[in-house]
Amino acid sequence: MLRTTLLAASRSHGARKLVESTPLTRPVVERFVAGSTVDDAIRVTSELAGDGRYVTLDHLGEDTADTSQATATVDAYLRLLRRLETAGLAPKAEVSVKLSAVGQFLPADGEKIALHNARRICSAAGVVGTTVTLDMEDHTTTDSTLGILRELRADFPWVGAVVQAYLKRTEQDCHELASQGSRVRLCKGAYQEPASVAYQSKAEVDLSYVRCLKVLMAGAGYPMVASHDPRLIAIAAELANAAGRAANSYEFQMLYGIRPEEQRRIAERGNTMRVYVPYGDEWYGYFMRRLAERPANVAFFLRSLATT
Ligand code: FAD
Repeated sequence: MLRTTLLAASRSHGARKLVESTPLTRPVVERFVAGSTVDDAIRVTSELAGDGRYVTLDHLGEDTADTSQATATVDAYLRLLRRLETAGLAPKAEVSVKLSAVGQFLPADGEKIALHNARRICSAAGVVGTTVTLDMEDHTTTDSTLGILRELRADFPWVGAVVQAYLKRTEQDCHELASQGSRVRLCKGAYQEPASVAYQSKAEVDLSYVRCLKVLMAGAGYPMVASHDPRLIAIAAELANAAGRAANSYEFQMLYGIRPEEQRRIAERGNTMRVYVPYGDEWYGYFMRRLAERPANVAFFLRSLATT
């Protein structure tokens, strides 16, 4: 119920104005967001890289409704990639891109514009020697995002995709994506989805996650296990062993600010641990999805409003 309310609020203009105008929100947001500038992104990346973690950077923004905003987002990614190169961080950090932030929902030619914009980001990433992963948004975008992924992979075979275990289609998508060189991030899924397309209970989502993991670990691609769930992380490690995978043939991923000790522990035991680091001013949708994932975060948020 709380999850549904928060996810509905994540797309409400009124709720957004209310939450953003509360100055006391900021310290809580900072738990999940690296900061608002590219300098913040570079600082946090260098701290994480310093203790052996890898990074994927998200310039925050989604559901862009005008072309100039989409272009500004591309420019922000190009600046970020140049800064990663200058700081010598490109081998440790890639970027994650939401296609809706680069034009996918624009009324005229949205998909074409998003493909063109994603291409510009991929070209720049290729020049500095790093990779790009396309985030996955709600289920109405899945076909479009996977279509754009196919086009991008023709020129940039290292572009990664995200699949969401809560969608009933995802096991089949995993079969199609688990091919040589294919980087696939498996997550549970963070949006409000109807029962016609998505499993609704945690138990069903977890079972689906394990079925998808089995397909990806047995396949020829590069699985990226994105979860903070200790049980699923342990199962992923067992399946990787059973498939005879070397530690460098798959990776674990977690979100900035969530289970940092576990992130360090996984990196220290010799696995690749990549941290998803969002930065920028458009934190509202991302922040609300993090609150929705865990009721304790809401309590933490309300407590800080009461005590700050
Ligand atoms: P859960 O069962 O939700 O959580 C397991 C445990 O992890 C919890 O008990 C708690 O201890 C901890 N935990 C989980 N979430 C939180 C939180 N917000 N705050 C504090 N503790 C928490 N979703 C998409 O739909 N599209 C994407 O492109 C996408 N990209 C992602 C990239 C990465 C690297 C990661 C890690 C997640 C991504 N997600 C994405 C979000 C994902 O779908 C889940 O919503 C999120 O990871 C929570 O699921 P979980 O697997 O951690 O399991």
